Amino acid sequence: MTPPTTPIRRNRLTKIVATLGPASSTPAMIRTLFEAGVDVFRLNFSHGTHADHGERLAAIRAVEAELGRPIGVMADLQGPKLRIATFADGPITLTPGHRLRLDLSREPGDLTRVGLPHPEIFAAMAPGADLLLDDGRVRLRVVDCGPEFADTVVVSGTRLSDRKGVNVPGVMLPLSPLTAKDREDLVFALDQGVDWVALSFVQRPEDVAEARRLIAGRAALLSKLEKPQAIQHLDSIIELSDGVMVARGDLGVELPPEDVPSIQKRIVQEARRAGKPVIVATQMLESMVSAPAPTRAEASDVATAVFDGADAVMLSAETASGSYPVEAVSFMDRITGKIERDPLYRAIMDAQQPEPEHTAADAITSAAHQVSHTIQAAAIVTYTTSGSTTLRAARERPEVPILCLTSSQETARRLAMVFAVHGVVIADVTNFSEMVQTATRTAFAHRLAAEGQRLVITAGVPFGTPGNTNILRIAWVEGNA
Ligand code: PGA
Ligand code: MN
Repeated sequence: MTPPTTPIRRNRLTKIVATLGPASSTPAMIRTLFEAGVDVFRLNFSHGTHADHGERLAAIRAVEAELGRPIGVMADLQGPKLRIATFADGPITLTPGHRLRLDLSREPGDLTRVGLPHPEIFAAMAPGADLLLDDGRVRLRVVDCGPEFADTVVVSGTRLSDRKGVNVPGVMLPLSPLTAKDREDLVFALDQGVDWVALSFVQRPEDVAEARRLIAGRAALLSKLEKPQAIQHLDSIIELSDGVMVARGDLGVELPPEDVPSIQKRIVQEARRAGKPVIVATQMLESMVSAPAPTRAEASDVATAVFDGADAVMLSAETASGSYPVEAVSFMDRITGKIERDPLYRAIMDAQQPEPEHTAADAITSAAHQVSHTIQAAAIVTYTTSGSTTLRAARERPEVPILCLTSSQETARRLAMVFAVHGVVIADVTNFSEMVQTATRTAFAHRLAAEGQRLVITAGVPFGTPGNTNILRIAWVEGNA
C-alpha cells in the first residue's frame, strides 16, 4: 500500500464494525462508510450470495488501496441458525390467536403456513413448547406437532417476514457448529482473503477448536457468544479464539433480556484480561434503521459498551438494510470519541487495568503505557510481525493511539478491529536508527504526532525475530520528518 498524502486517522480509539447489505453495497457507499468511520466491514453470510460478498470484498479492497489504509473484513458464518423460509406475497400480519403451521414444504409461505427447513427442530419439539421468531418479536406456542410439521398459535407479535430467525429456548438441539453451508461459505471466504471468520452459536470449546482446524491460520477466528452454554465455558472459549463478540441479538432471546447487561460486562472484562479483542453487537442504534437520529437510550447503550471497555461496537441492520447507514456510523463515531474523552472513562479503564503477565513483552508493553502517560507522548509505536505485542499494548487501553508497524498486511488488517490500533504496513527495519526514523516519520505522516511531540516505541532486537519484544525507546518527532 502506498502511503497517501493525507492518511485517514480516527479521532477515537474504540473501533466500529459495520455490516454490509443491500443498503450499503455500492463501491461509492462502501467508501463513504469507511470515511465516516468504519474500521471493519462484516459480510453476513446469513444473507446474500457468494457473488454479492465477493463484489463487496473487492470494493473494500479497492478503497483500501486507494486510501492507503488497512481495512478489516469479517466473514460472519450463519452457523446452525434456524430460520423460516420465505412468503409468497411479502410479510404477513399476525394477531394473538392466529394459527400458523410450520412445515418442511419448499412452497413459499402464506397466512396459514410457512416453511421451516430443519427436521431436527420438529424432532425435538413437543406441544406446549414456545418458539421465538425475529429476535423474540414473535412468540408461537406449539399446539400439535409431528416429524414434519408443527401447528402453532401466535402468543404475541404482529408481523413476520422472510427468513426470520427461530430460537427454541431451553431445548437442546443436536446441531453441529458448522453446517454444510457454513463449510462452503468458509472455503469461499478464505479463498477471497477475509481477515476474520466469525463463528455463530458456539456452545462448547470443541466447536471453536474444530473451526480453528478448518481455518488453519488463514484468518483470525472470532467466537460469537450468543448461547447460554457458551457463557458457562467462557474462559476456554476466549482462550481458543482470537476475539469474541457479545452477540446480544440471540443471547437476549436465549436468555431473559435482563441477564444480558451483566454478561456483556463480564465478557468484555474477561476478553480484555486475556488480551483478545471484543465486539459489542446488535441493536445498538436499531431505531436508525428508519430514523436519521438515535434514541437517547441507544446513545446510552453505545456509551455503556465504551465504558465497559469494548474494543469495538457493531452495526447490523442499521448499515446493512437501514435508510441511514452513514448517519448511523457518524453517530457511533461521535459518541465513542466523546465517551473516551470523559475523565470517568479513563478512571474506569485504569481501575480495571489487568496485571501484566511475567513476560518480557508484557513488562515492556505495560511500561510503554506508563511512560507514554508520564511524558504525555502522542502515540505508542509497536513493531510487530504476528500482532501479539500490539494486542498486549491494546489490553492496557492507553489514552493515545497505538501505531502498529508491521511488514504483514494480514496483521495490519486483522488488528483494524482492536482498540486504539492504527496499522501501517512498512518494509522490515534492520537497525536501531532506521527503527526510530520509520516510527517518527510514519507517526508524523499519519498525523498521529506533531512536530516536537514524543513517541514511545517498543520493538525486539535483533530485528526480524518474532516474539522477542525487549526494548523501549522514547523518540522526538521532527517537523520535516
Ligand atoms: P447475528 O449475530 O446478527 O448473526 O444474529 C449477532 C447477534 O445474535 O447478536
Ligand atoms: Mn446471532
